[in-house]
Amino acid sequence: MSISNLKVAQAGKAKGHVLGFPRMGANRQLKWALEDYWSQAITQSQLIEEGQNIKRHNWTAQIEQDLDFITVGDFAWYDHVLNMSSYFGVVPKRFDHKQGAPVDLDTYFRIARGRSVKGKDAPASDMTKWFDTNYHYIVPEFSQDQHFHVNGASLIQEIKSAQALIQSSHHDSKVKPVLIGPLTYLWLGKLSSTDTESEAAEAKLQLLPQLLDAYGILLKEISEQGVEWIQIDEPILSLDLNTQWKSAFERAYHQLNKAPLNVLLASYFGPLNENLSLACSLPVAGIHLDGVTGKHDLVSVLDKLPSYKVLSLGLVNGRNVWRNNLSESLNVLQPFYQTLGERLWVGSSCSLLHSPVDLESEDSLSADLKVSLSFAKQKLREVSVLTRALNAEDVTEQIADSDGAILKRAQSSHVHNAAVKTKLSEVSDDLFKRHSPYVQRSLAQNAALNLPLYPTTTIGSFPQTQDIRSARRKYKKGELSKVLYESTMELSIQQAIKEQEQIGLDVLVHGEAERNDMVEYFGEQLSGYGFTQFGWVQSYGSRCVKPPIIFGDVSRPKPMTVNWIQYAQSLTEKPVKGMLTGPITMLCWSFAREDISLKEQAFQIALALREEVTDLENAGISVIQVDEPALREGLPLRKSDWQAYLDWAVNAFKLSVSVVQDTTQIHTHMCYSEFNDIIASIADLDADVITIETSRSNMELLNAFKAFDYPNEIGPGVYDIHSPIVPSQSWMQGLIEKAAQRIPADRLWVNPDCGLKTRAWPETREALTLMVNAAQALRLGASNENKHTAFETA
Ligand code: GLN
Ligand code: ZN
Repeated sequence: MSISNLKVAQAGKAKGHVLGFPRMGANRQLKWALEDYWSQAITQSQLIEEGQNIKRHNWTAQIEQDLDFITVGDFAWYDHVLNMSSYFGVVPKRFDHKQGAPVDLDTYFRIARGRSVKGKDAPASDMTKWFDTNYHYIVPEFSQDQHFHVNGASLIQEIKSAQALIQSSHHDSKVKPVLIGPLTYLWLGKLSSTDTESEAAEAKLQLLPQLLDAYGILLKEISEQGVEWIQIDEPILSLDLNTQWKSAFERAYHQLNKAPLNVLLASYFGPLNENLSLACSLPVAGIHLDGVTGKHDLVSVLDKLPSYKVLSLGLVNGRNVWRNNLSESLNVLQPFYQTLGERLWVGSSCSLLHSPVDLESEDSLSADLKVSLSFAKQKLREVSVLTRALNAEDVTEQIADSDGAILKRAQSSHVHNAAVKTKLSEVSDDLFKRHSPYVQRSLAQNAALNLPLYPTTTIGSFPQTQDIRSARRKYKKGELSKVLYESTMELSIQQAIKEQEQIGLDVLVHGEAERNDMVEYFGEQLSGYGFTQFGWVQSYGSRCVKPPIIFGDVSRPKPMTVNWIQYAQSLTEKPVKGMLTGPITMLCWSFAREDISLKEQAFQIALALREEVTDLENAGISVIQVDEPALREGLPLRKSDWQAYLDWAVNAFKLSVSVVQDTTQIHTHMCYSEFNDIIASIADLDADVITIETSRSNMELLNAFKAFDYPNEIGPGVYDIHSPIVPSQSWMQGLIEKAAQRIPADRLWVNPDCGLKTRAWPETREALTLMVNAAQALRLGASNENKHTAFETA
């Protein structure tokens, strides 16, 4: 075939690719290798060998699906943002890294974890959530005098290995490296010595010219490998950007355009909306849009996109576990294909990093559920089938298969539960409201509970000892009988109650020994939830989570916690808190359904919890805590979407608890202190008591209460459970006094800042004793003050 024939033959062919692939390996090989390396059980070259295997495996999977581009550079030993910092030599000074020297693997790990096999320990860099996912990245730390030193040797090496692999496989796929774009990289980082966020944002842009030079060098090196296309990720295009940042995009991409490479500018996690015109007008060879969360952009993109540019559409969801509706996707793609022909690329919505690796490993899922699912490897196939369908290859069988599965799911009685639907349709505003306002409830609760000033409590879990863990594990495997398991759990409850009484706490907990995970525990007992064996997704570094899957309407077949709490309550005169995970946290930490709204799913869970709350109350439990640590992280990326989310999220919480009498006290708990911006919604939850993290930030949280008069009771955490260090009594007393300047003393609680399950008993016992002493000392002070004033006025 002559060259010109080849061109004609290929004209008009749509292309297929994904934005990235999970780096953990189907059996979490990377996790085990990393942890072995850190504990010096294997050498660095063994670790590198394992990484190589994973990369090869991932590339092969893409080659086998005949994707046109094989994504390279998405692998990371810890985090892909940290990869960028290592390519550009962005290493905080405290790691004593020689400027300009390549960032070796141990330095890389020290930035991420504070320590590694070699090199001195230093405080790790911060880690924070990657947009609205549950993945966490290492925050780049820039200095005012930041220099960028390019070292992309590791990336170049990967490009070479992938090219060699493709060549040996006799496919004609091309390597497409991926980098985070300069604006997103700057946006994600922090700059020391700036006070406010807007100051930092402005100062960071000062670093742009230098950073662009560095990108220029790196792009040139990449192009020298014969690479034609590079994917540059700028997910901040789906955020609210001010004009400075928008114009920075123009400057940046005019400069990057000089590189001898085609740039595919990728955005994901939301619609670009007002940033769409900007993205379309940038001097790049193509753009990628997230067709799942950004459907809205698809309506107008063809009007905005210059006719020579490539458009990549991500219709295969990279963040969920559901099988793609291939027919529906094809309907979306066809008109684009008619206009764009070979300039249309079919992709995943975002990197597949956020979905589990391989459904084939699952052998204990129900057939009903399994046929509805698709993990990263299956998603590669979906992209491939869609691309081939556009290119008029015969994929009838695959499409029919997908249609069948979608139809079956839509009709399945495992998914749809009429009773749940009826209950949901009966939800009206009054189900969100307690019988009386807080002021009245608090009088009723004071009379019923008779608690002292500065009541003391804990957040729920107590140390999960070896005995507890092994009993749970053996029971699950069937190696321990139900009777023996239950008696082990009861024993741990007895111990927890005895300890708490000795320490002198006021509101007790049963200790949560029976729970492995606060979402899984409830998910396992609710209908509509499914669990995988290997559905791991990277959370950060070597840590993975295995979110349960909400696959059908959620309901509660029977009480979930009542026996344990009732047993605990039978052992003491003091109130024992019932302990539940709230609807928003149950939702955010699971894979949600796509066929009904998040709000509807949250309400279904809330209704199930409402039944549990009712049963707890009927069993004589007078204090019930519903944890919502995920409330804040569920916030949408765009501020304009916040209120709608907060409205239904708050209502879901209220729906789960508002059934109780005035005398029953509702607690909630959250594990972060930055909620100045949502404090009004926190108040709207109308929990009688909220316990929150604050101790690490030295009561910084209290700033939120300057401008906002929080109406109910609060327990700002007085010690940090993340550390084994036992705080002094006077430190805790000081924190409570500080809190009492903002919140009236009669509405203050005294408690640690989170659950104690990761701690050991000795430090727990000691810290809680000192905490109780601090509360007692303050009570004494308060009553002396009262005597004092009484004396003076007499
Ligand atoms: N009740 C839970 C515990 O004490 C709360 C955990 C959390 O806030 N994440 O462990
Ligand atoms: Zn917590």
